Amino acid sequence: MSTCKKSITRKSLIYKTNVEYGDYTVNHVQGCFHGCQYPCYAYLMARRFGKVASYEEWIEPSIVNNALELLDKEIPKFKDKITSLHLCFTTDPFMYNYTDVCKMSVEIIKKFNANNIACSVLTKGILPDILANLSTKNVYGITLISLDESFRKDMEPNSAPYHERIESLKKLHNKGCKTWVSIEPYPTPNIFKQDFLPILKSIGFVDKIIFGRLNYNKDVTSYKQRDSFYNTLAQQTIDFCNDRNIACHIKNGTVK
Ligand code: SF4
Repeated sequence: MSTCKKSITRKSLIYKTNVEYGDYTVNHVQGCFHGCQYPCYAYLMARRFGKVASYEEWIEPSIVNNALELLDKEIPKFKDKITSLHLCFTTDPFMYNYTDVCKMSVEIIKKFNANNIACSVLTKGILPDILANLSTKNVYGITLISLDESFRKDMEPNSAPYHERIESLKKLHNKGCKTWVSIEPYPTPNIFKQDFLPILKSIGFVDKIIFGRLNYNKDVTSYKQRDSFYNTLAQQTIDFCNDRNIACHIKNGTVK
C-alpha cells in the first residue's frame, strides 16, 4: 500500500466534458501510477501542456489537497446542471494500492450523492466494497482489454491484475450495484494476439459493455486489416450483449 508523495492545490475541480460517459467530471489527482503504454492520452496532454516533464513524473501522482473543499463550493453552483458525474478522465480514481486516492474518491462520490447526483466510475484498479453502500444510482466500471497478465504488465504495468478487477466488480454486482466494463483501447493482433470471446464471457454479468478501438498508436495505423478487425469485434460485442440483455455501446470511430 502506498500514498501520493506529492500534492498540488487547484483553483477549480468540476468541469464539463463532451465525452460519452458523463457530462461533468472531476480529476482530483495529477498523474497516474498505472503508467499505461497504449499510450495514455491524459499523459500525452499533461506533457504537451507542461504539467509533467516525463513519464517518470507522470507515474508519481500528485493528489489535489484542496479537492474536498473545492467541491463544497462548486457542487451548489453545478448541481442543477450535472446529469452524471464521471470519475475520472485524466487519472484513475481507484489507483492500485494508493489508499489516499481511493479514500478521497469515495469521499467525492459521497459528496455528489448527498446532492442527488449519480456518479459513474471507471478504473484499472480495485473497486472497494464500500461503494455498495453508496447511491444505487451510481454505476461502477473497470477497463478490461485482455485476460493475459503478461500483456497487462507490458501495457498497463502498475494497474491491478485483471482477475482482481473482475472480482471487485462482481462483488459489487452481487450486492445489487450497477456495473459496466470498458473494453477500450482494444489492441490489434499485430500488437497482441488473443481470443476476444473469453474476455466477453468473463464479464457476462455486467449491465453495460463499451467497446472501442486503440487510437494514437502507430502499430494500429500500420495494421492494414484494422477496420475489418474492429468491425468484426464490435459486431461480436453487440451480439453478445443482445443475447444476454446487456446494454452495449460501441465508441465513436470504432466501426468504419
Ligand atoms: S489508468 Fe488511465 S489515466 Fe492512468 S495511465 Fe492508464 S490510461 Fe492513463
